[in-house]
Amino acid sequence: MRWEGGKKSENLEDRRNMAPATVAAGGIGVVLIMLVAAFMGIDPKQAQKFIGNAGGNGQNRGGGQVQRELTAEEVKSGEFFRTVLNYTEEVWDEQFRKAGEKYLKPKMVLFSEQVSTGCGNAPSAVGPFYCPADKTVYLDPTFFEELKLKMGGSDAEFSQAYVVAHEIGHHVQNLLGYSSIVDEVRQTKSKTEANHASVRLELQADYLAGVWAHYGQQKFKFVESGDIAAAMKSANAIGDDRLQKNSRGFTSPESYTHGTSEQRIKWFRLGLQTGDLGALKELFSLPYNEL
Ligand SMILES: [Zn+2]
Repeated sequence: MRWEGGKKSENLEDRRNMAPATVAAGGIGVVLIMLVAAFMGIDPKQAQKFIGNAGGNGQNRGGGQVQRELTAEEVKSGEFFRTVLNYTEEVWDEQFRKAGEKYLKPKMVLFSEQVSTGCGNAPSAVGPFYCPADKTVYLDPTFFEELKLKMGGSDAEFSQAYVVAHEIGHHVQNLLGYSSIVDEVRQTKSKTEANHASVRLELQADYLAGVWAHYGQQKFKFVESGDIAAAMKSANAIGDDRLQKNSRGFTSPESYTHGTSEQRIKWFRLGLQTGDLGALKELFSLPYNEL
């Protein structure tokens, strides 16, 4: 991926050199908003096990004490994520403007081990996620080492950019109202219907990541040879079927919340090829067995 020298976003905060987040005090009465759209195959109910006391308001940073200097490698990866975040801002800003809307830029936080968020405290184990309450993407970049070593994905730069674009896709869904449609299904319908709605949302986020790559490539020419294959390799590694098979040795499609590897690749590719945002609603309404 070509990114060095590109403009950097001002909306990224690097907390990797700060004291790990502690449980926020004073969370009584604050409703824990459990919409953790984790990138890995963890559904919100499972994620709840990881996430401690809510009351995080996005401001608590476990004291926010700087404990050490960032390493040279961290400085470099920080620049990379700032540049990718800027690429998403420029693309979505333009797409929203074309539609007569205004794009509200999300924030992004890099952390290590544990982080305090508007959705509660979360450990790295939940994988990258978007918190709608504070409109922020949270990412521990060591996730990509795991993705490569344990899950058979790729840690190539463009594969990392795809993961960021997927999470930003959840932000776009939040702005466009798709997240609240799915929330309603989760609250009022059966478990199976809720899982289907989750799959729909995840595949749409993959589609939006593809749409981002479509327009980003036109504007910035950042895709190099092998990049798309690297992103596909990661999409393939983190489908629910693959994740479940790796962890349990068998799969149960009715419990899928992210879509199969094949579906994830299909939707990313479709977005990449067409860049068609006009089709978003129609695609979202497809019968489940046609996704
Ligand atoms: Zn997701």
